[in-house]
Amino acid sequence: MHQNTILGLIAQDAIEHWRTAAACQSADPELFFPVSATGPSAEQAAAAKEICGLCVVRSECLSFAQRTGTVHGIWGGLTEQERTRRRHRSMVVVPAEPGKPARRTA
Ligand code: SF4
Repeated sequence: MHQNTILGLIAQDAIEHWRTAAACQSADPELFFPVSATGPSAEQAAAAKEICGLCVVRSECLSFAQRTGTVHGIWGGLTEQERTRRRHRSMVVVPAEPGKPARRTA
């Protein structure tokens, strides 16, 4: 096996290692993927967030979702909408050049 491949696998293993400590490992995966933000789905999301609240790798989980652009599901205790709002709040508004609109950047 090529050395870069081996190093890549080791790095990938280190990156993914946090999953072994996830509090949701024995939970129902459907809790973490509610189909909407209302009704029974809201109760599902609340149950998932309770589990996330006890999770020791919550920040790693949230970082993974944000780094990989994961769209669906609850990661790091936040819903898709909450992660999107968080990402927008952390963006910097670049002042507009004359004749151009202002823009946001990470
Ligand atoms: S933060 Fe929540 S979704 Fe992420 S690993 Fe922990 S329990 Fe699972």
